[in-house]
Amino acid sequence: MITLSTSIDKIPKIGPVYVKKLHKMGIKTVQDILYHFPHRYDDFSNLVPISKVKLNQTCCIQGKILEIKNSRTWKKRMAITQAIVEDKTGAIRIVWFNQPYLTKSLKIGDNVCLAGKVALDKQGAYLSNPAYEKLSPKELSSRSLAPYNLTHVGRLVPVYPETEKLSSRWLRYILKPLLLEFRNKIADPLPEKIIKQENLLPLNNALWQIHFPDSMALAKKAQNRFAFEELFFIELAVLKERLKLNQKAAAAAPMNIKVLKKFTKSLPFKLTDDQKKSAWQILKDLGKSMPMNRLLEGDVGSGKTVVAVMAALNTVKAGLQATIMAPTEILTKQHFKEISHLLYPFKISVALLTGKEDKLASKKLKNETIEISRKKLLENVKNGKIDILIGTHALISPSSSRVSSFFYKDLEEFGFKPKKIKKNRVKFKNLGLVIIDEQHRFGIEQRARLCESYSEDTKFSDYENSKGVLIPHLLSMTATPIPRTLALTIYGDLDLSLINELPKGRKKIITEIVAPADRQKTYNFIKKEVKKGRRVFVVCPRIEKNEKKDGLPWTDVKAVKEEYEKLSKKIFPNLKVGMLHGKLKSKEKEKIMRDFKIGKIEILVSTSVIEVGIDIPEATVMMIEGADRFGLAQLHQFRGRVGRSKHQSYCFLFTDSPSKKTRQRLKALVKCESGFDLSEQDLKIRGPGEIYGVRQWGIPDLAMDALKNLPLVEKTRESVKQLLEQDPELKKFPLLRERLKGFRAKIHLE
Ligand code: ADP
Ligand code: MG
Repeated sequence: MITLSTSIDKIPKIGPVYVKKLHKMGIKTVQDILYHFPHRYDDFSNLVPISKVKLNQTCCIQGKILEIKNSRTWKKRMAITQAIVEDKTGAIRIVWFNQPYLTKSLKIGDNVCLAGKVALDKQGAYLSNPAYEKLSPKELSSRSLAPYNLTHVGRLVPVYPETEKLSSRWLRYILKPLLLEFRNKIADPLPEKIIKQENLLPLNNALWQIHFPDSMALAKKAQNRFAFEELFFIELAVLKERLKLNQKAAAAAPMNIKVLKKFTKSLPFKLTDDQKKSAWQILKDLGKSMPMNRLLEGDVGSGKTVVAVMAALNTVKAGLQATIMAPTEILTKQHFKEISHLLYPFKISVALLTGKEDKLASKKLKNETIEISRKKLLENVKNGKIDILIGTHALISPSSSRVSSFFYKDLEEFGFKPKKIKKNRVKFKNLGLVIIDEQHRFGIEQRARLCESYSEDTKFSDYENSKGVLIPHLLSMTATPIPRTLALTIYGDLDLSLINELPKGRKKIITEIVAPADRQKTYNFIKKEVKKGRRVFVVCPRIEKNEKKDGLPWTDVKAVKEEYEKLSKKIFPNLKVGMLHGKLKSKEKEKIMRDFKIGKIEILVSTSVIEVGIDIPEATVMMIEGADRFGLAQLHQFRGRVGRSKHQSYCFLFTDSPSKKTRQRLKALVKCESGFDLSEQDLKIRGPGEIYGVRQWGIPDLAMDALKNLPLVEKTRESVKQLLEQDPELKKFPLLRERLKGFRAKIHLE
């Protein structure tokens, strides 16, 4: 017997070739294929007598084949199948192109239903390339043709996204009998109350109507139901994760007003109102014994770092440890420098741990940096002598196998027993707070795993109390604003803090798209800026000239090495030009950044490695080559590298691309100063799939569209919340639990 969980290779009609194709599309079971929805419908419901067909209109006719034969066009040698079909009112010529096999199934005397456009040639009107379906004698004898008896014509016909070269015709041929078999037999996972309340189509009806709708209105209604269902499961998964987290215990770090005041006084500037508000929200969370799970959102340069430092300081002063992770090594080093400097008066030890080298530094008491061995550092993290550990998240987060296996070996070398500590790397004595910088692609699964990995099975922290293992508070930070729809769904387990204003006195960065003819002018301008003591970034899309991407060389794109040669030798022979890219050793990178910061390098030619976070107040010019190669958010990040002081800053965009879309994107950058406005634009141009990496999660198209629909998102969120309030464990809804499990297995919320 076939059930919903039957795997598709057990369906006799689906041969091994098709099984493979379906698997590639993520369709493994009967349920999966029933949930593979059409993306549009052809309206072939307009059944007319042949005498009434109209030129250029799509219509559907029904009649008997009087003649059918193949031929080839004289010029192009294209296969042509011509037929004459007749009904009581008249006859019409039919022409199919490139489908000679049709004569094998359609024979003279057959009764057929055909749907297509009526066209005209020298020989008169004809039906061009129509969809067809043979009528069985049984269907004919029933005389009144109920529309649902037909599959490919004579009705609203589903058209599926044709991935893996699976034709819609084939999918209809498979789906219809399956749908008939399961008609009224599938239990609806959504609670009846919610279906009634939201006026949704019940599952069985919705499944039928989304594939073979009786009307467009019903198709729409079915789509709405499934959009609701998809969002419902996303939110259920996310909110349940949150509930789970709330039941866990964290170490409370009560707000230490005295220390915090001393800290803000020690800053060379006043905090903005938004910084204060965000810090307050975070500090309040830290004071609770329920784990914080908060996202701090603020445009580039809005000053998230100091807020994070306040949180870390407060945590440490409560006797706990904190860790700060950032995506790149350069950024971790910058954080280490800045944070150890800011916290110098507070007698806190800050350490840096990087992935590629064994060089480590620890800073304690004296305002200087000392190097210590990794062994010593790990020991000191473990015994609690190090208060704040800074590193890349690749190193500490459990998801990166490449780096972690590297680190694994390291641990063995130092006499650690990897088996005992399982996958994990660093062991803390009492980790109270995890801060993750620049992490807008951080899914709930990763967040959940991160929290868990510090406790439960891996015993990341030995810090326990009567409530069991304590898990650390989590603060993530991003400059990519999250639209409200996403904040309520895939980021629904996070509390949000926003920094909406930039520090006072910042000037608007002048952004220009520079015409190729004005290149020299830009170079002259750069010379003048450097004379004033300013620094310049030149960003190129790739490292070397012959680099390949997707197997194709980027012949037309500027390369760092080439550009460096040109700028240092020809254009600015008297200025100090440096080069930075990801293939350099991290020691070299570090030196280059240091030289750039102190002015030993005045112009830095770089790849996108400088994209996030880098803070060099003297930098006032950002020149971007091949700007069309970068996304809007990325360009905005580049631009955020300048304009970090009171000096006027500039961003120059160069592109050879004539494409209109490129222009549109770059113009958006010129027009919008704020990352928030820009992300709205980006959302319109590219959609959430690309920007937030949601595409990789395996969320179906219907849900992707639904993710843009705020009223729907709010409605589902409300339903899920009500449901979980009444029954947090979903004890009364075994089906829902079951489906949620399947959903979690399929969707990767990371
Ligand atoms: P981001 O939010 O992009 O991480 P940073 O934290 O790197 O921004 O801050 C950017 C720069 O602004 C830093 O040099 C920082 O010292 C400075 N800064 C932060 N807050 C303020 C403020 N309230 N007033 C003036 N400058 C500030
Ligand atoms: Mg930052």
